[in-house]
Amino acid sequence: MYNTKAYAAASATSPLAPTTIARRDPTANDVQIEILFCGICHSDLHQVRNEWSEVMPTVYPCVPGHEIVGRVTKVGSGVTKFKAGDLAGVGCLVDSDGTCPECKAGFEQFCNNMVLTYNFPDKHTGGVTYGGYSDTIVVDQNFVLRVPANLDLAGAAPLLCAGITTFSPLHHWGVGKGKKVGIVGLGGLGHMGVKLAHAMGAHVVLFTTSPGKKDDALRLGADEVVVSRNADEMNKHAGSFDFILDAVSADHDINAYINLLGRDGNITLVGAPAKPLQVAAFPLLFRRRSFSGSLIGGIAETQEMLDFCGKHNITSDVEVIPIQKVNEAYDRLAKADVKYRFSIDMASLKNA
Ligand code: NAP
Ligand code: ZN
Repeated sequence: MYNTKAYAAASATSPLAPTTIARRDPTANDVQIEILFCGICHSDLHQVRNEWSEVMPTVYPCVPGHEIVGRVTKVGSGVTKFKAGDLAGVGCLVDSDGTCPECKAGFEQFCNNMVLTYNFPDKHTGGVTYGGYSDTIVVDQNFVLRVPANLDLAGAAPLLCAGITTFSPLHHWGVGKGKKVGIVGLGGLGHMGVKLAHAMGAHVVLFTTSPGKKDDALRLGADEVVVSRNADEMNKHAGSFDFILDAVSADHDINAYINLLGRDGNITLVGAPAKPLQVAAFPLLFRRRSFSGSLIGGIAETQEMLDFCGKHNITSDVEVIPIQKVNEAYDRLAKADVKYRFSIDMASLKNA
């Protein structure tokens, strides 16, 4: 084991503060990474504040962060995929059993024995896993991604969660040319959804509660913008969508969006509000609509997404901050006030 600097929350009500954590020395199959940038996902905020206590209670101290980009500093003797000096990415997953049908099909995110990057039992240390608000991380080579060299690193970090979480359902539901696609909420996930659906060739409509984000949405690739609190604007789109991706972090009226779907249209939820949503029967019955969910994506699909972003030169629009501003960033994230992802420059931790 070795010590590394990190930022952790000591309880659901404490601010994040500097600390030192122990990581394992790299074993034969491990890659050690010096973290350069780590995105701030709304999931970090939910978990630090223990808002998902009923599903996955937070174990403190909690070191969040699962949008990690860095440089390989050391590899174990059995590592063939990476060498010291390579760029590397780590997302929400750091392990799975590799033997179950889900893993074999490339759905590591649905493996019963998957290990999330933070706040999950860590079989190496006996504690919980610690995420990317840290100097370094040690990860099995099978869960380390290749980051295309042409991408800006601060903007590439959020691809590891916001990118794959939107890419996977867009891909699964056949989004492409000739499809009318809605994205709900222009936050970290939503703005990636707009960029990716646009690059896939769809007609993209962005739904927002923030009228001030309208011009940005058009610049990011939306063909139309609807202020969702305006019922007339919403009604104009009734029954017209093939697919809608809902990336809202808080309680909201899902039925208003189900009504916008055409025959066999689907709305997929990726947002994870703590409170159950109220779903009315009739909007689903009419036009045989469906409502589903989606969780990040598998490792191979994450690599596919990174390669797609490399090819189309897609990164997240980021506000780069030093780690010392992380608590301020959380307060702004809670108010839907970020354009459109915070990316922490981890050099600020090293020099602290
Ligand atoms: P974010 O950057 O905070 O964006 C959320 C957006 O939702 C806001 O920008 C806002 O957009 C909208 N919103 C916020 N409060 C709202 C309200 N009360 N009513 C209506 N709209 C509201 O968050 P994020 O990082 O994109 O994450 C979004 C959600 O996805 C979180 O719950 C997160 O935990 C979850 N998540 C899920 C997965 C998965 O695998 N399924 C992965 C990552 C994250 P407008 O201002 O445009 O309205
Ligand atoms: Zn995330």
